[in-house]
Amino acid sequence: MGRSVKAVQFRYKASMKLDSLFEDFRRMCNDAIRIALREKPKNRFKLIELAYPRLKEYGLHTDYILSSCEVAYTSYRNKNRKSNPYVKRPFLKLYNKSFVLNHLLLRISTSPKNFMYLTLQGSDYHLSFIDDPNLKRRSVTITDRGVFIAFSKDVPELKTRGRIGIDLNERNVTWSDTDGETVTVDTSEIAELKGRYTAIRARIAQHTGRDGRVKRRLLRKYGERERNRTDQAWHRISKSIVNNAREKRLGMVMEKLTGIRKLYRRGNGKGRSLRGRMNSWMFREPQRQIEYKAAWEGIPVAYVLPRGTSSNCPDCGSRVVKLRDRKLYCPACDLTWDRDVLASKSIMAAVVPAARPPKRSDEGESKTQEEVGNPLSRWAEVKHDGEDHRVSRTQRLPDHPGR
Ligand SMILES: [Zn+2]
Repeated sequence: MGRSVKAVQFRYKASMKLDSLFEDFRRMCNDAIRIALREKPKNRFKLIELAYPRLKEYGLHTDYILSSCEVAYTSYRNKNRKSNPYVKRPFLKLYNKSFVLNHLLLRISTSPKNFMYLTLQGSDYHLSFIDDPNLKRRSVTITDRGVFIAFSKDVPELKTRGRIGIDLNERNVTWSDTDGETVTVDTSEIAELKGRYTAIRARIAQHTGRDGRVKRRLLRKYGERERNRTDQAWHRISKSIVNNAREKRLGMVMEKLTGIRKLYRRGNGKGRSLRGRMNSWMFREPQRQIEYKAAWEGIPVAYVLPRGTSSNCPDCGSRVVKLRDRKLYCPACDLTWDRDVLASKSIMAAVVPAARPPKRSDEGESKTQEEVGNPLSRWAEVKHDGEDHRVSRTQRLPDHPGR
């Protein structure tokens, strides 16, 4: 049994203007982060104790103090952070006991003894989450773009009868399963989007000249647009992969994004670390989508190291010879392989490292306003194994606006 979390986005109308509340909360988070960096609290309760007097000065309900300390503590504890965390964009987030959701009416506290109401707009899809008695409401995140409610459920792990290996490439996604089926989905539209927006960004830089503010605003706007469209395209693909795995009851295997992937290993003139970042940037989102959609269905997902996944024959293990047009030849089997098919079969057949025992976690979900920035997306985030993905995102994304 694992706990799976999903954030669902709603449009809303608020009974009052929220800008200053967002801004106060953002500052509270940053105050609490500063205090955490300075005092190095051992746990979140210690941070609350340390930050309480400072945060109380804002005059908001205690819910906001607890919640900003929660946001701050997870950012502070993030093992992957490279610099000091800082919350850039105004938002607010409240955990389960600090909000009441009655059908589509959301009530939150503001200052002590005062409430405000938000009317959510919901389709049948949205209502299916609100009306589902098996789902727990973990947290609510509000930004100027929407209300994001994180629901969680306990999902029994699917009893699998085979595996599916998924190979993510720049131009396609190829998956092969233990039933012998191989499917390739063309993703060149995603690569083209990337090219198109790179050109748009270059034109913006050219035409805005010295006006840094206009330039930043435009870059951010188009960066978000690109990300939304790219994520959207990946959603269609990840959904079909996960549906396929669920129907056939197959566990999923993907390559671990180690930073440098075969595609960029040599010969494109870029430094190793840049190649690495490009790679994990490109495939982190589809992997994230596949992973949480799978988690919501109880489908196990395993990762294997990319080593050898496109250099050895999946049938006999011999080293393959590179031909032109992404073809590979196995001299032992006298067989020519498509590179991506071979890779997906190798991933499927790879030895999966022993899984860690699943942990239960009662932590809230892990969204910040930055990562829920896809207004078209219903899916936003999941945490399946109790591992806290929240931190890296809370911290990392503000450093890369327009990602
Ligand atoms: Zn072979």
